[in-house]
Amino acid sequence: MSDLLTREEFQSIADRMDLPSNAFINGRFTAARAGKRFDTHNPATGKKIAEIALCDAADVDAAVAKAREAFERGVWSKMHPTERKRRLIQLAKLIRRDRFQLAVMESVESGKPIRDIMTVDLPETLHCLEWHAEATDKLYDQVSPSGDDALGLVVREPLGVVACVLPWNFPLMMVAWKIGPALSAGNSVIVKPAEQTNMTTLRLAELALEAGIPPGVFSVVTGPGEVTGRALGLHPDINGISFTGSTEIGRKFLEYSAQSNLKRTVLECGGKNPSVVLADAENLDEVARHVVYSVLWNMGQNCSSNSRLIVDRKIKDKLMARVVARVRDWRTGYPLDPANALGAIISKEQYDKILRYIETGKKEGASVAAGGEAIKDGEGLYIAPTIFDEVKPSMTIAKEEIFGPVLSVIAVNGTEEAVKVANDTSYGLQASLFTSNVRSAHRVSRALQAGTVTVNCYGEGDITTPFGGYKLSGFGGRDNSLKAHDQYTETKTIWLDLSDRHMDEKVD
Ligand code: NAD
Repeated sequence: MSDLLTREEFQSIADRMDLPSNAFINGRFTAARAGKRFDTHNPATGKKIAEIALCDAADVDAAVAKAREAFERGVWSKMHPTERKRRLIQLAKLIRRDRFQLAVMESVESGKPIRDIMTVDLPETLHCLEWHAEATDKLYDQVSPSGDDALGLVVREPLGVVACVLPWNFPLMMVAWKIGPALSAGNSVIVKPAEQTNMTTLRLAELALEAGIPPGVFSVVTGPGEVTGRALGLHPDINGISFTGSTEIGRKFLEYSAQSNLKRTVLECGGKNPSVVLADAENLDEVARHVVYSVLWNMGQNCSSNSRLIVDRKIKDKLMARVVARVRDWRTGYPLDPANALGAIISKEQYDKILRYIETGKKEGASVAAGGEAIKDGEGLYIAPTIFDEVKPSMTIAKEEIFGPVLSVIAVNGTEEAVKVANDTSYGLQASLFTSNVRSAHRVSRALQAGTVTVNCYGEGDITTPFGGYKLSGFGGRDNSLKAHDQYTETKTIWLDLSDRHMDEKVD
């Protein structure tokens, strides 16, 4: 889907857009019961966009009650899998129909470059939904190898009511990663988007209703984490939570689960991921392209951003020259202009945090090879792509997740040190390895502690491969692939005794 419009055409869509601002409960847009609202802003202009319903525990109770009712009535949970598949595919068709409006809405509330949304986020959202939809009537249950005297059936059943709590960095994609498998399995789903990015999720819920997904099966509650998110986490009638966000808040969801009903809790959290470039890496131009993309994509606001470049000292200077040159190609500016590769940082809070990290890097003795400052453009929150050279593994910028367009370059002597430095982090989401030696490719990718290791490229695999983290990057399950369906299903054993013992008893 590369049908890019011009900046003027995208702007004209933005100017005429009808923006959803109420929660979506039981198939209807609904204001919060207490009447409260909160403001959202366009990070590219600083202008207020909407006043969004602030849902509290009473609103969450209402959404859960309707979700439970729909689940018990079986309007979705007991619908024939082929029919569930058909309606989920219809949802994807409606998203495709409304793609320009959804893309502009996403850009306006998140500051993401429209080019990325049209060429990456939207196509991946559609592919994800269609892939899980197709799985709905193709996943078989199992028969256990228990001999002739018994029949053991191992069957999947939907959890019931599932809540999905989302971050702001990939609003459409994250909602698809969660609802794709959750709805495919027959659950009723309640989504809580991040407070900065509500509108595309709300529009998706409306489209789901149009696609024939019954009221109560896909609801959206909007509001701040400590109010709306907390109420979901502690709710006694929610069976499972799928969370994507920071490790700090992920821990809270484990606590909420322990304090309430031991609801299934799956966490996808942060990362401090490395690009590891060994001395025998070939084609340093290509390596530089991947390294720069991996750290700058989505302004570095990406859990799998490779924010550390760990490179063998023997080739460091050659690679650095190419990396710095490539960074200049990444034009930063107004997100609705398709010529821009980088847009605005999500919020003033995040912007200030990134600039503080840049100052800390300078103070701790790293040297700025590119960027290192904000870009002034009205009230827009823009930061120049920044590369720090001469970084030591002990420095703050090498240890903490910055979640911005900032790369820390660490030189090492040999493969052993490269692996040691790469693994010297409390996170373990993803790593990219560059080498021309097949043996190193296998051995080092096994040695790197990460849920995904890409070799001679940057990426996250695709919809067919599981995505999630080791160590503080994740807990309890995986997104993507058929493993994602495990998050949203219970496993039941049905055991039938087939021995003739009972027959003999009857005859006697
Ligand atoms: P966050 O943890 O601040 O918020 C995530 C969600 O949790 C939001 O919906 C928020 O409203 C909610 N929340 C916040 N406080 C809460 C509380 N006390 N109780 C209940 N809910 C609460 O994360 P963010 O700032 O939106 O996103 C950035 C983080 O997400 C980064 O650390 C990033 O690495 C991570 N992330 C991970 C993945 C992944 O797949 N592993 C993907 C994207 C982002």
